[in-house]
Amino acid sequence: MASTTLTVGTVQVTAVCDVTGDFPEPLERAFPRVEAAAWAPWRRRHPGAFSGTDHWRLRDWCFVVRARDRVVLVDTGVGGPGVPGASWIGTPGRLPEELAAAGVEPDEIDLVVLTHLHLDHIGWNLAWDGDRPRPRFPQARYLVQRADWELFAARPDDAREAFDRCVAPLQALGVAELLDGDRVLDDQLRLLYSPGHTPGSQSLLVTSGDDAALLWGDVANHPAQVGQPDWGPAADAQPEAAARTRRRLLERVETERMWLAPAHFPEPFGTVARVEGARRWQGRP
Ligand SMILES: [Zn+2]
Repeated sequence: MASTTLTVGTVQVTAVCDVTGDFPEPLERAFPRVEAAAWAPWRRRHPGAFSGTDHWRLRDWCFVVRARDRVVLVDTGVGGPGVPGASWIGTPGRLPEELAAAGVEPDEIDLVVLTHLHLDHIGWNLAWDGDRPRPRFPQARYLVQRADWELFAARPDDAREAFDRCVAPLQALGVAELLDGDRVLDDQLRLLYSPGHTPGSQSLLVTSGDDAALLWGDVANHPAQVGQPDWGPAADAQPEAAARTRRRLLERVETERMWLAPAHFPEPFGTVARVEGARRWQGRP
């Protein structure tokens, strides 16, 4: 799949798809509080976000942000063969090939921003020489919220495989930086603490001139949630906080007329539009 680029003032944001797949569990398990019949209008509006009669089709978008002072990679997909994220979705990701096709060299990346530590956002953090890990993006610092690091590091052993494999070595390698809340990187780039999906979720806000884009990870996972922000997936660790964050950021994206770049919608870039008074995801064609 070809990459696609959004221009935000003088900043270029390129979306690269690591993988397209079906969420392994049916919709009723992925979104347990949503009645099956309630999906019908959303299925008509966003057919690319459904598969068969009862599955959610998701993309796993990663984003390369070329700003004035630095190049940032936001999230690193499910990972390659044998990595826990790839086993979960049932197919390995293609991020390295897709980055190369988009003209991005691994050593150009100055910062890797991990929106959160679920296994579909961390898969290509590292490369391995035999069983010795090294940072796949050798010049980069990896920015993670401390709240996520501490939560995932404290999980029981059998739920920690992805963290142990793809995240924990970043600290021993000296490239992890743990953050406590918002962080201004420069006048074009800032990290916004966006808790709820996980306790340490964060978004990257890009601003340049009058333009802005919000790369918000999994603040919403499915485009239907733009119109139904209370529809949380089972994966929301803190459902009430997640819904609050979703409402607050949707309000901001709409009133400030920003671009929105979610991790799992069919289109990587779009806007929040009003259709008959209700919010809708409007993917950029
Ligand atoms: Zn995700």
